[in-house]
Amino acid sequence: MIILDGKKTSNDIKAEIAESVRGIVANGSRPPHLAAVIVGNDGASLTYVSSKVRACKRVGFDSTLINLPESTSEDELLEKVNELNNDEQIDGYIVQLPLPKHIDSQKILIAVDADKDVDGFHPTNFGKMALSLPTFISATPFGIMELLKRYDVETSGKHTVVIGRSDIVGRPISILMSQKYNPGNSTVTLAHSRTKNIEELTKHADIIISALGVPNFVKAEMVKDGAVIVDVGITRVADNSAKGYKIVGDVDYENVSKKSSYITPVPGGVGPMTIAMLLKNTLLAYKG
Ligand code: NAP
Repeated sequence: MIILDGKKTSNDIKAEIAESVRGIVANGSRPPHLAAVIVGNDGASLTYVSSKVRACKRVGFDSTLINLPESTSEDELLEKVNELNNDEQIDGYIVQLPLPKHIDSQKILIAVDADKDVDGFHPTNFGKMALSLPTFISATPFGIMELLKRYDVETSGKHTVVIGRSDIVGRPISILMSQKYNPGNSTVTLAHSRTKNIEELTKHADIIISALGVPNFVKAEMVKDGAVIVDVGITRVADNSAKGYKIVGDVDYENVSKKSSYITPVPGGVGPMTIAMLLKNTLLAYKG
């Protein structure tokens, strides 16, 4: 069994990005600049955004964190989006989800300039991704593809079962795994909460990508020997640590890892890759 080490791979990618930034700055240009907008004080979202901003600093990017109050109206947020679209000093930005209930997320994401949409959530970028055209691929599916690529995991002709059909993970990764390139060229089944008998599907899968957010959902008896396991799930489970919680994935790692050929741990798998690919998208946005 080989661990798909997202922490190490993301550090390699960040070192490559930092090297590019050193070159840019040595030539007298300003570094790439990522902005992140967060509305409200949700603990998990603040943690994610802060780690994205810290990662920017580590690779030499400029970064701006815009923390708006929970009471921000949809119009006020649209105004901020418009301001960022027109700010030539900002190459890319993200609007951290989820947004408060009184704001229509779709309306906000569509208002983001597609050329600055380093999250790859804009319909134009999602459409380009689906057509295999060059674009910003949203960071989590992009990170999974990069991890498979860097570990030379064979995906061509394999049967991939994706569990979860969200717009940001399950659906895009199902499209990318079926694309006519490698990694890709896989035969994909996309499962979700209405799927009957998921175990019958996963038992025959060469690759399982689990993105549902239910701890220990994927158990050893659901997995065939030699399967590749990608665990996207991140769930906070209360424990006695100083933080008061630990992060767990969707997969029963202890037992499933004994049967798998490759597996991502949680934490230290897909999570760090997501941040590295956001930085990569920002560098792409900077280069235009
Ligand atoms: P989401 O929007 O929470 O949707 C979950 C998906 O799982 C839905 O498609 C849902 O089906 C399906 N599902 C839920 N319970 C199920 C069950 N019992 N059986 C089969 N399918 C079930 O998904 P998300 O935003 O992609 O997040 C999924 C997980 O990934 C979460 O733990 C999240 O924290 C994590 N995540 C991690 C990263 C990272 O960087 N590692 C990034 C993003 C998300 P329906 O569509 O039918 O409701």
